[in-house]
Amino acid sequence: MSKIIVLMGAPGAGKGTQARLLQERLGLPQISTGDIFRALSKANTPLADEVRAIQQSGRLIPDEVVIRVVEERTSQDDCRNGYILDGYPRTAAQAEMLEELAARQSKTLTAILIDVPLELLEKRITGRRSCPICGEIYNIYFKPPKMDNRCYLHPERELTHRADDTREKVRVRLETYEHETAPLIEFYERTGRLHRVGGTQASEAIYADIERIVKNGIVAAA
Ligand code: AMP
Repeated sequence: MSKIIVLMGAPGAGKGTQARLLQERLGLPQISTGDIFRALSKANTPLADEVRAIQQSGRLIPDEVVIRVVEERTSQDDCRNGYILDGYPRTAAQAEMLEELAARQSKTLTAILIDVPLELLEKRITGRRSCPICGEIYNIYFKPPKMDNRCYLHPERELTHRADDTREKVRVRLETYEHETAPLIEFYERTGRLHRVGGTQASEAIYADIERIVKNGIVAAA
């Protein structure tokens, strides 16, 4: 049976970095709701303006909108053999929808929590930069680009800094996470589908732990 891999963790835990590696190495599509909405918000329409304003505030986009986007995206052909969710589900309603979706798509769900202590998250978030061409993620404190503010593969453009990756927005985003999303950890734990990996290790070590879980199915469930 094919799998839905749910990458969980606070903003800045490294979900995006790990999802990109999984996509590259295991060939499963990475579905990042944050990326989907960031792309959508670039249009010049009332909906795009609304999405942009919500994202920049650090609050969540309404469930019914996110749920429709995920349903549509995961019904595409490349998701047939499984997919990676990065940034979804974030609320109880989204998790409920995902249970139905998994049943309908005949897929099992494995949740992986990348555990990072709160005090590290702020630097991870405010230091984050990404390549506007390939999406490679850097961090000015922990993984600085070799060339000044440029991706080594695409030096023609400067790295971008997300509008919500600022110190003022971090607090709102972490509060939203604690309030809305952290309770889902307990839900996946209770249903025996949660695995934890230490998120302070080097990113290759985190990846190795995640790959083991994905491939074997089971490393002692948390
Ligand atoms: P991310 O890139 O995952 O950190 O998401 C950035 C922003 O996109 C969030 O702060 C929300 O405003 C929005 N967003 C992403 N995923 C979701 C989701 N599953 N539910 C609601 N809002 C979301």
